[in-house]
Amino acid sequence: MKFKARQNSKLLDMRENAMEMKSGIYGSTLVSNLKCEDLSDIRKSMNFLLQQGKNARKTVILSDPAGKPKPQLYEEIANILQQNIIERFIGIGPGFCENREQFKYQNQAFYKNVSKFLENEDLLSFEEHFILVAGSSKSNFQKLDYVFQEKTHETILNISLDNLIHNLNVYRSVLKPNVKLMVMVKAAAYGSGITQIGNLLQANDVDYLGVAYPDEGINLRLAGVELPIMVLSPEQSGYEAMIRFNLEPEIYNLRGFRAFTEKLKKSASEFENPYPIHIKVDTGMNRLGFEEHQIDELIEQLRSEPSVRVTSVMSHLAVSEDPNENDFTLGQIEKFERIAQKLEKELGYSFQKHILNSSGISRFPDAQFDMVRLGLGIYGVTGDKELQPKLKHISSLRSEIVQIREIEAGETVGYGRAEKASKKMRIATVSIGYADGLDRRLGNRKAHMLINNQPAPIIGNICMDMCMLDITDLTDVKEGDEVIVFGQNQTVQQLAKIMETIPYEVLTSVSGRVKRVYLQE
Ligand SMILES: *Cc1c(COP(=O)(O)O)cnc(C)c1O
Repeated sequence: MKFKARQNSKLLDMRENAMEMKSGIYGSTLVSNLKCEDLSDIRKSMNFLLQQGKNARKTVILSDPAGKPKPQLYEEIANILQQNIIERFIGIGPGFCENREQFKYQNQAFYKNVSKFLENEDLLSFEEHFILVAGSSKSNFQKLDYVFQEKTHETILNISLDNLIHNLNVYRSVLKPNVKLMVMVKAAAYGSGITQIGNLLQANDVDYLGVAYPDEGINLRLAGVELPIMVLSPEQSGYEAMIRFNLEPEIYNLRGFRAFTEKLKKSASEFENPYPIHIKVDTGMNRLGFEEHQIDELIEQLRSEPSVRVTSVMSHLAVSEDPNENDFTLGQIEKFERIAQKLEKELGYSFQKHILNSSGISRFPDAQFDMVRLGLGIYGVTGDKELQPKLKHISSLRSEIVQIREIEAGETVGYGRAEKASKKMRIATVSIGYADGLDRRLGNRKAHMLINNQPAPIIGNICMDMCMLDITDLTDVKEGDEVIVFGQNQTVQQLAKIMETIPYEVLTSVSGRVKRVYLQE
């Protein structure tokens, strides 16, 4: 196995968080903790592995912790490991070698050091495993971190799980007691990764998850998420799978109601209790939902249909973030309350009511009803100007300078020769393009990226996999340097404005080929 020392030391320097999760080689997932010094760090790493790799085949690779290699210490490590079902264990260091009799895994191995491990193990045997690589700062485990990670291009979306939890708690603090929290994880959790965020939210006790399509819900179930899941746009072709995976449909018209209950009856033998459904009413968005004049017929149908039970009634706000439209929003809320009350009275049982999205939660606290549906806000972005400073950005998109060159006045840059140098210029080529989700409208000096916190304008037309930056006026820039597309100091809101769109589109446009790296303290 070839190993590049330069890259390795650079990765370690950049690493501020103890824990990272990312795609590994041969379809594996790599969880690494390179500051795993003592028993409490081992415990923390194992908890993370359990949270994220619930249904996966798990391998644990540990280094000797700091301190004397007493048998007692290794007995404790063996106890911690036992709280988690793992398939394979590897201990690295003289301490593990001396105390190997403490461990009783069928598939286990012990090595003096990292090099001996690499000489003797076939990495293909870790295919599709969830691999924990947890080593002390003296252990040289950054080498393992490098060997096990998938080698893709250097464009990365970093996602801070700590900041996501911070935002979750900010929203929790504005919820009234007993109001439940549904978090929307549709569109790959707004680009940040559905199963990773779903597992994290499950570990942090949210009440419900919301997805757009059945497939998204199925992925969550396969990854070990057991929370109730509401599907916003259930399609008839997905009903059967939804029932099998216990996903709850949003029903927004009678056609869907009839089709879903038909399907339920065909698999009725599997169910003792009525199946939970969510009724969507339209209160002004004019997208999906029953209209007020259709409610009587809906009630009639619901009364004669024992296979389902309304678990919630919901509506969606069209302009919750806009103070100039408060009257419209209040009108939607009033209409919603009227319809929901009627349904409750006529059906003779109670259900949860919910209408607020992120901006609604903080701006219309009196309309929290029984539950709220948190989306964009948990990902660190809100249209509510008072709340924004309290939130933390969870994702940062970063790439790398692959080449630097100087060009003379009169030369041009890129396709279409769109940038013409009026003087001698220094330019950098960066490995991110429109296929990574970098919108072409940001080219031709409309936007900049940050290099060592200095703005570098994007010049010429953005290419499919690359773009060029003007670094003439920047100091201390070299090939291999990190380039920030968005993050804490350059926000998705700023980019959205230049693109004449909304932050939602910027976040959800980061393409699937961009490697996601999850960070935790
Ligand atoms: C996406 C969505 C939300 C969340 O909206 P945000 O503005 O991101 O908070 C809530 N409810 C429904 C029905 C949605 O589709």
